[in-house]
Amino acid sequence: MGLFQKVFGKESCTLCGNECGMMHRTKIKGGEYVCSDCVRQCSKYVRISEMDKQQVAGHIEYMKRQEKLYEELFVNAKRDTYPSPVTKQGISFADELGMFTIVERSDPQNKVNHELFRYDQVASYERYVETEKAAEAGKPDVFKERGVKIRLLNKFDNVSMDMDKAKKGLRPHPYIKQEIKVVFSTSERDTDYTDNAVYHFDHIFGVHDNESALFSFKGSKNQQREFKAQVDIAKTALGAFKAVKNGTLNEENEALKEQFSEMQQSTAEAQTGGMSIYTQRADEAEEKVNG
Ligand SMILES: [Zn+2]
Repeated sequence: MGLFQKVFGKESCTLCGNECGMMHRTKIKGGEYVCSDCVRQCSKYVRISEMDKQQVAGHIEYMKRQEKLYEELFVNAKRDTYPSPVTKQGISFADELGMFTIVERSDPQNKVNHELFRYDQVASYERYVETEKAAEAGKPDVFKERGVKIRLLNKFDNVSMDMDKAKKGLRPHPYIKQEIKVVFSTSERDTDYTDNAVYHFDHIFGVHDNESALFSFKGSKNQQREFKAQVDIAKTALGAFKAVKNGTLNEENEALKEQFSEMQQSTAEAQTGGMSIYTQRADEAEEKVNG
């Protein structure tokens, strides 16, 4: 094959077999090509040039499951979306599923599948503002955009994952390594919703849960969680003690089983600062849709 043929000639997509010209294909690890239709099925936040054929195929299957979750559960869930309305991009939270998505006003990449992120995959989030040099020399920098930057925990840097995060029950994302930048606005005049989104993350992560409100006799949220866990442990122990006495300590003791699972839940919540409830909801959602 001549050089011209090699560069400009058609290649066939290693996944679907369709022929693709040089403008409509991506070279992956291993030297094969993937056509633009198959690339459209992938996440916006991965570089498929770094994946081999098997990884791309697995990723597309993952994205199809994401779309199913979105269609079957996420669209009908109660959601909080910032900014509202979305002018550029935004974040839509569904607490009842323990997941969020990134909303696009328009998607130039024309992606096929919606992508959801689990709350327990988030390693960090922060508000950002970018400025750029003014066209005229000597003038102050001008506003460019603002939004929220999100980093997911990824399985590639597991080794450096600090123990605090592991303890909080966070889970690595299977594919995304790069920082996700959500552009809320490119005009300084738009209402600033970045604090609302950050506050929603704070709420999820229990950032303010160590603070007890003035005049509150109940203590902070974390104190309440610990207290509830202690009470449940005591109740379960007492229940088991009674059951031994009555000869009912067995698999059929429904009341004791219920008390035991309540104790498991409240101790997990106390240990993870409340994150375990979102992990449980996300697990249930995935189980429901994909079995
Ligand atoms: Zn293809």
